[in-house]
Amino acid sequence: MTDRPVAIVTGGSRGIGRAVALRLASDGHDIAFCYQSAGDAAATTAEKVRATGAACFSAACDVSDLAAAQEFVAAAKAELGDPEVLVNSAGILRDAPVAMMDGADWNAVIDTNLTGTFNLCRATVFDFIKNRRGSVVNISSVMGVHGNAGQANYSAAKAGINGMSKALAKETARYGVRVNVVAPGFIETDMTRSLPEKVRASALDKVALRRLGTPEDVADLVAFLASDQASYITGQVVQVDGGVVI
Ligand code: NAD
Repeated sequence: MTDRPVAIVTGGSRGIGRAVALRLASDGHDIAFCYQSAGDAAATTAEKVRATGAACFSAACDVSDLAAAQEFVAAAKAELGDPEVLVNSAGILRDAPVAMMDGADWNAVIDTNLTGTFNLCRATVFDFIKNRRGSVVNISSVMGVHGNAGQANYSAAKAGINGMSKALAKETARYGVRVNVVAPGFIETDMTRSLPEKVRASALDKVALRRLGTPEDVADLVAFLASDQASYITGQVVQVDGGVVI
């Protein structure tokens, strides 16, 4: 254990979660991150986090399982100490129009994106309240604000994150705990790299700043909201989307 503040990041093995873990580590946090299944990506993140001088604890943990989430947080606490930052970035897509969508795909997206975010909040926020200090940043999406054809499950899960985060912000503000949401637009990660070129081109067409976002664009905003620089900001949904929605 060090005397550095501890941040928990879900979905930290790659993409936005990895960029957030690295940014928070560079800003002086020790990092605990989880991911879906073991692999090189998680090992690379852990190595990069440690290269900044931060301590790092990582584990495979299915965020949609409350008991697993509680076990992960308990192990992170035992290793690094009480967390004071939580960033929920774990997420999946299972796109299809509602008329064709499998119930299993609806459930998987709600379970991982929305229930997973609740589960990690459930596992950490009691300590944040007890310690009178904590900042939660949940990663949603512009689709949760505006909806997207073919992504009813994802749009619903992300809209759910926005609502849950506002409720949680109201529950915890009096204890010195802040809760905010970052809603990215179209960001270059493994999640979006697999999309057909036609879909990527049409997404780019809608971006006022004429480029796709980087994971670091998102991490900059997350780091700000997690920090004391944002000490008067809670219950907000902030878009980082290059001007897709103006
Ligand atoms: P990604 O696919 O690159 O990474 C997803 C991460 O979540 C991985 O670390 C994976 O292991 C983890 N994960 C998935 N299911 C999990 C589970 N059940 N339990 C634990 N971990 C799990 O995705 P990304 O592009 O980095 O997206 C990160 C977040 O940002 C997601 O919530 C996504 O919905 C959101 N987002 C992404 C974009 C984009 O354009 N990439 C846009 C808006 C919002």
